[in-house]
Amino acid sequence: MNEEFRRPVVVFDLDDTLYSERDYVLSGFRAVGAFLDSDEAAEKMISSWETGKDPYAAIGADGEETARLLGHYRSHFPEISLRPGAEETLRVLRESGVAMAIVTDGRSVSQRQKLKALGLERYVAPDMIFISEEVGEPKTGGKALRAIVSRYPEASGFFFVGDDPAKDFVVPNRMGWTTICLTGDAGNIHSQDFGQTAGGDPQISVDRLPEILPLIIKD
Ligand SMILES: [Mg+2]
Repeated sequence: MNEEFRRPVVVFDLDDTLYSERDYVLSGFRAVGAFLDSDEAAEKMISSWETGKDPYAAIGADGEETARLLGHYRSHFPEISLRPGAEETLRVLRESGVAMAIVTDGRSVSQRQKLKALGLERYVAPDMIFISEEVGEPKTGGKALRAIVSRYPEASGFFFVGDDPAKDFVVPNRMGWTTICLTGDAGNIHSQDFGQTAGGDPQISVDRLPEILPLIIKD
């Protein structure tokens, strides 16, 4: 617990907030293709995924083979990069003494590889990274956010920055946080339709991550 900390705390979702999840999916299929030594397999998987079909069926993988390839996909080291403006945003927040956390749903192995590939350990302390498989519940359970509040009980404000109105904002809204949705990218994996989930709409929407800075840093 840090009772001396009286500055803001900003919690980021990971997928489709700090980087494009579509890029991760494409990277995964390319890794599977490389594993099979077949560019053609990678291309087949990508085009079937893009048309909503089963990418593993598209290359004729049976149940056992699919499980093996999925394991490879989930543990691959991805070729992904931070969204435009994300690096600048994280740097300014760090320089301003804002505490940062990441709360993300997913498998430990996959999310850890993404964090490493994006270099996010430079900005977020190890004990401020919460991955659902490690936490033992999805982010909608609230355990991670409660842990963050109890770590910084005197923070001047709590912000949640995400992309998915079905999941990201329900708990922080209920806890009285400021919720910010990053919109403006049609390539997102999850729909950004507002008004679909009770209590799930964000308070603020921004098109680019640097727009959150004046909302958080007031002086
Ligand atoms: Mg997301």
